[in-house]
Amino acid sequence: MRVAKEILDLIPYQPGKPISETKRELGLETVFKLASNEHPMGVNPKVIEALIPALSELHRYPDGAAYEATRCLATHLRASPKEIVFGNGSDELIGLLLKIYCRPGEAILTSEYAFIAYQISAQAAQVKTIKSPITADFRFDLKAMAELLSRHPEIRLVFIANPNNPTGTYVNEAELREFLKASAERDVLVVVDEAYFEYVDASDYPSGLKLRAEFPHLLVLRTMSKAYGLAGLRMGYLIGPEEVVGLMHRVRVPFNLNSLAQVAFVAAMNDQEFVKKGVELNRVERERVSQALKSQGFKVVPSQTNFVLFDTGGDGQEVFKALLKRGVILRPLANYGLPRHLRMSLGLPHENDAALTALGEVM
Ligand SMILES: *Cc1c(COP(=O)(O)O)cnc(C)c1O
Repeated sequence: MRVAKEILDLIPYQPGKPISETKRELGLETVFKLASNEHPMGVNPKVIEALIPALSELHRYPDGAAYEATRCLATHLRASPKEIVFGNGSDELIGLLLKIYCRPGEAILTSEYAFIAYQISAQAAQVKTIKSPITADFRFDLKAMAELLSRHPEIRLVFIANPNNPTGTYVNEAELREFLKASAERDVLVVVDEAYFEYVDASDYPSGLKLRAEFPHLLVLRTMSKAYGLAGLRMGYLIGPEEVVGLMHRVRVPFNLNSLAQVAFVAAMNDQEFVKKGVELNRVERERVSQALKSQGFKVVPSQTNFVLFDTGGDGQEVFKALLKRGVILRPLANYGLPRHLRMSLGLPHENDAALTALGEVM
């Protein structure tokens, strides 16, 4: 059978190296994984408690409309339930947008070093990815993106990760507003991916949700994988105009949010204390780790997220391997076109210390 070149050329998403695999391969007893931006405090005990009775209902199909979870989120965000759609992770929602809005040969617009899932989803849909160069300080260059948008009529969707992974940087309100104004005249949708918004403390960081009132072509994407610590249950959601959300409901698979995820979602949303604790721990560790990396001589990109990107000054893959032998898993970024850099997720203080010590030994 004939298969499109884009499909044959697909390189699957490379997840962080699992702890079990690392222990097995290197014969290690203790391994710290700081490679996937996971929550260092583990699962919220209140979520576990809520999940226990849900386990005995697993013979039933989930609620296809995710009624309780949708109502809970609508209340939390002061949005209409009709403006909300859940996904099996944000990944699924990105894929749905591509399916609905892009035809083969059309394009999405994003930045160099943007979250790689946009490009992978686009390629799987035989859609091109147009990228603007990143700024010298590793930030999305929205002026350059607006420029590209004006020159490429084939662009249908724009992806702005704010803050971005793997750079950890953000775009400010003035920059985003200007881009939204420039793109409003075009027949495009702008997706602002706020996977890490809980961790931001910059005062000029824009709220995508607030900007929606002014810019109907703006869609906000969020996840339960990071600040809520539920990456394993695969939950993302999108807030957008009813028309867009309605189409996404039509195209999605019927039970894309499984029944455990639906129960966990409500329990997690109703315990904002857990999120706050994690964010506070992250704030302290982000500052401490960034300073420590700098004093070890690394160039560190200022982060607004739960990870830190730094330049090893050499071959990142080699440093990654040397750290593995010492039981520390960081994330190499050659697949992003950043062969010298590593990304370190912020863990518990003793995990971060182990990584910093190992880095000191390796370098
Ligand atoms: C982690 C991450 C997500 C979340 O992905 P899920 O599929 O919801 O786990 C989304 N966007 C960015 C930029 C991320 O780094």
